[in-house]
Amino acid sequence: MLTGSTRPRSRGTGPAQAQTRTRRRAASPPSVLVRAGLLLALSACAHGPRTKTLRTPEHITYSVSGDLDRWDVELCFGDARPAALVGSESAAERLLHPRDAASGLPLELTGGDAPRIDLDNLTGPCLTYGVDLSGAGDGWRQDLRRIGDDLLVDNELWLWHPPKVASTPRITVDFSFPGARVSSPWPREGDARFVIPLVGLRWRSYTAVGELEIDTLEVAGAELEVVVMGGERELSKGGIRRWMKSTGEAVASLYGAFPVPHLQVLIIPTQGYGSPVIFGLVERGGPAILLLIDRDAEDDEFIGEWVSIHELLHLGMPFIQRRDAWLPEGFVTYYTEVVRARTGLRSEESAWRALLSGFDRGARDVRGDRSLGDASRSMHDLHAYSWVYWGGAAIALLSDVALRQGSDGSIALDDGLRHLWRCCATSPRRWTADDILEELDRWRGQAWIIPLSRRLLATDGFDDLPRLYRKLGVYMVHGELTLDGTAALTHLRSAIFAPTSTASHQ
Ligand SMILES: [Zn+2]
Repeated sequence: MLTGSTRPRSRGTGPAQAQTRTRRRAASPPSVLVRAGLLLALSACAHGPRTKTLRTPEHITYSVSGDLDRWDVELCFGDARPAALVGSESAAERLLHPRDAASGLPLELTGGDAPRIDLDNLTGPCLTYGVDLSGAGDGWRQDLRRIGDDLLVDNELWLWHPPKVASTPRITVDFSFPGARVSSPWPREGDARFVIPLVGLRWRSYTAVGELEIDTLEVAGAELEVVVMGGERELSKGGIRRWMKSTGEAVASLYGAFPVPHLQVLIIPTQGYGSPVIFGLVERGGPAILLLIDRDAEDDEFIGEWVSIHELLHLGMPFIQRRDAWLPEGFVTYYTEVVRARTGLRSEESAWRALLSGFDRGARDVRGDRSLGDASRSMHDLHAYSWVYWGGAAIALLSDVALRQGSDGSIALDDGLRHLWRCCATSPRRWTADDILEELDRWRGQAWIIPLSRRLLATDGFDDLPRLYRKLGVYMVHGELTLDGTAALTHLRSAIFAPTSTASHQ
């Protein structure tokens, strides 16, 4: 049985705080450099075998066992042995007794804020180390959480790895926790073995251990490993399946397919705040989405809710740097409303009400003389989430209409996002908004979204909307929405929300 201590938690989260935190692992600049392989010191090996000169392993196996307070890791190299392993500062704080498995002699932890375990004295193919996981709180922490009798661990805490590995490595992990179940975000090979992709060494992901409820679903051609932690809630297993199916199909309606072939879905029931899903985030090291749900919410409340759709839509987009949040958050915010209407989860009218209300909230969030571009660069400092998300959504709507109008309805922003998904979403690089806009203009074959975005980013972002509403025939008077079927661009408005997009599916 797993054992461990529980601490009281306190963290208020509300629907307004539901936001995406797609990001790389927190890493200080030096450790980023180490991860990039720029600081790999090839010091002479005084005691180890000299026959292996290749330092970028292709085969690495991790074996992990233990309990909720401590994990014991054995790491073996099937071929080349690296000069060192790298990890985060958090991993270094929790590291216990790194040793050569053959001799039992200690291995040295060096590097300060760019921690590394020196392997020059490794005499065999394996080393061992412990990971101190005591003190896991049941409040919200990024790297370690207790949820009832279960544990959620940021893989960064135990996944020490070479600075460089082969481009197509074979990296596996076997977990052995008697009496407990395990879910990692990577493809399974059997009950407790997972195959770690390269992105698993680069981006954040979680492993869950405990009395987990694990269900494997196929949704829109993808495999979802759905894990419920902590247990107690009203949402039934069948309700989860219907929820994930409707969410997945809504997202697939944009990209033409589910955005990733395999997804870990971590569901954590907690105290409610009036919405079925209280908070969501997406991680790319697996990939995975994590959803905090209201434990009192019932099955029907989850069908068509926006948070899971929003998080999954992110996975079809390239990873874009944080200061350019207007683009990923804006486009995803726009399509969160559009795809729910297209797939029948809500009406076009309710989608327009949500869009207009969101644009109003965004406009009310504008600060002084700043521009939308400024707000995006300082979004977290300014807490200008409504402005940036909805300002970006306004650019998405205006871009969509402009593209449809300029192509007599034959091309839509959907096509641009499908192109980005195919070309760039799985790339491990961090993109700028300019990179993405250039890619979209190149795809279109003409300057289209760059001039439109630059013009709007230099303003508060909302000035063009009233004129667009009139062209599309969208009116809100005294809280009453009217959709005018005789407006000049009614046909484009209808096309945006048509059950099957007018865009060319490829
Ligand atoms: Zn988001």
